[in-house]
Amino acid sequence: MRLSQFHLATIKETPADAEIVSHQLMLRAGMIRKLGAGIYTWSPLGLRVLQKVAAIVREEMNRAGALELLMPSVQPRELWDETERWQKFGGQLLKIKDRKQQEYCYGPTHEEVITDFARHELNSYKQLPVTFYQIQTKFRDEIRPRFGVMRAREFLMKDAYSFHLDADSMAAEYSNMYSAYTRIFNRLGLRFRAVQADTGAIGGNASHEFHVLADSGEDAIAFSTGSDYAANIELAEAVAPAQARAAASATLTRVATPHQKSIDEVAGFLKVAAEQCVKTMILRGRDGLVALCVRGDHEINEVKAQKLALLAGEFELASEAEIASVIGCAPGSIGPVGLPASVPVIVDRAAAALADFVCGGNQDDSHYCGANWDRDARVSEITDIRKVVAGDPSPDGNGEIRIARGIEVGHVFQLGQNYARAMDATVLDESGQKRVLYMGCYGIGVSRIVAASIEQNFDAAGIIWPDAIAPWRVAICVINPKHDAAVAAAAEALYADLNAGGIEAVLDDRGLRLGQMFADIELIGIPHRVVVSERGLAAGTFEYRSRRASESEAISRQQVFERLA
Ligand code: ATP
Ligand code: MG
Repeated sequence: MRLSQFHLATIKETPADAEIVSHQLMLRAGMIRKLGAGIYTWSPLGLRVLQKVAAIVREEMNRAGALELLMPSVQPRELWDETERWQKFGGQLLKIKDRKQQEYCYGPTHEEVITDFARHELNSYKQLPVTFYQIQTKFRDEIRPRFGVMRAREFLMKDAYSFHLDADSMAAEYSNMYSAYTRIFNRLGLRFRAVQADTGAIGGNASHEFHVLADSGEDAIAFSTGSDYAANIELAEAVAPAQARAAASATLTRVATPHQKSIDEVAGFLKVAAEQCVKTMILRGRDGLVALCVRGDHEINEVKAQKLALLAGEFELASEAEIASVIGCAPGSIGPVGLPASVPVIVDRAAAALADFVCGGNQDDSHYCGANWDRDARVSEITDIRKVVAGDPSPDGNGEIRIARGIEVGHVFQLGQNYARAMDATVLDESGQKRVLYMGCYGIGVSRIVAASIEQNFDAAGIIWPDAIAPWRVAICVINPKHDAAVAAAAEALYADLNAGGIEAVLDDRGLRLGQMFADIELIGIPHRVVVSERGLAAGTFEYRSRRASESEAISRQQVFERLA
């Protein structure tokens, strides 16, 4: 490509509404342009990168034996009624009506469509196992689209679905896909980690998310310093403290704590550590109010709370009015001592190990000191309901937990038989028996990867693409092409020979001043640059510079090819 014939549209200023570096640089490089909230046009430059990412994903999926197909993005409501997800999927589902008032959605994912395909196409165990995939545009009406293509509403996903006769076969393909993902993210040059993930409402057997490590990541990942244990923070288990609870030694005393509501305020006022306080939250589940107690320095984990039988997956914070009428105080003064018998008390393992603790007094502006479980406060259940924090012991017994930020770029999931059962997708086995299919699903956020890669590869001048996904691997910059025919001819020849040799080169023949030319080439992240100048030609050299290097080197034409080979 000659840049004089390309649509390059870089911007000097950092756009004010772009919060993270990848969003800023994608806009400045002119890779994407916003059409509406969470909806973007990929410019010719941006599309080159997006297609390179997609090509690597496609190659590795094919290598892993998956078969590419293409499903429609508009999906009839009836399929979603079969799995009851028309309602359950919630506000993210973009619902559409056609002229006959028939209802459809724009696909946020394709389990329904692929299971429909499978129930028609697959009849015999002999056709199994089989894995289908597609690379396609999805739409999810995200509550907060942000960070450009990182959390968009319309985005490009690779989604794959596998079908099996039994759980063992499903597990084998899961590990095949896990390896394929590892190859994909390695080829993309990403620093990533596979983490155990929550299987959520779908409730499959096993699930891993692949996270690119970056401070701007929306997810928190817990990993161990002493093993390869890594889990989404929502899932990471907070184990019981090694030390058993000490015997009660203090007497229960009510103290006045005027205007002290938060744990920090109360702990500061009473001059005790937050670790010696119990924090109580009242939730309303399906069958009434439930109290959750964690240590003052810990936070309740909503995903773990959702799994409590007493809350049965459906809960919200109890309202202040409800708390006032049942307990008799404001939320800042609740505690487990003397709660009405109708309110079960679920205590986190770390909070349960406290003796002589401070907690709310269930009267406004009042707390208890010297409180003890069993003696003063009823315990309905002791279980893990908190978020892990740095320094917790790793649940596998090796090392300590650390917390890092991650961007979820992929997800592998053993779905089991949930979809196949709901949609009656069966095959006949060897003995002619009807068997419900087992399924796995495997997603990759193709467009999100472009942004995630930038989050790991940039400097003050702009993007630094890994060679594998750069729009072009090398830029040839020509000084004064219009006035110097020899220089222009040498640059043209180098450009032609590099491309002929399979090294994707772009020729900057726009005739810009050197500084402007370099600024563009650096901003758009071309990993290698060669300058052709009159002085160089006279000396028989080209000025080569890697995007990550601080100095250029004068090298021969032969060496240019060797560097880029
Ligand atoms: P997230 O937790 O980030 O919302 P998800 O768990 O809803 O993602 P999946 O349903 O597992 O996502 O989708 C597969 C992949 O698609 C994700 O791993 C992610 O890389 C990508 N993806 C999901 N939502 C978006 C989005 N709004 N914008 C861009 N990519 C997305
Ligand atoms: Mg996910």
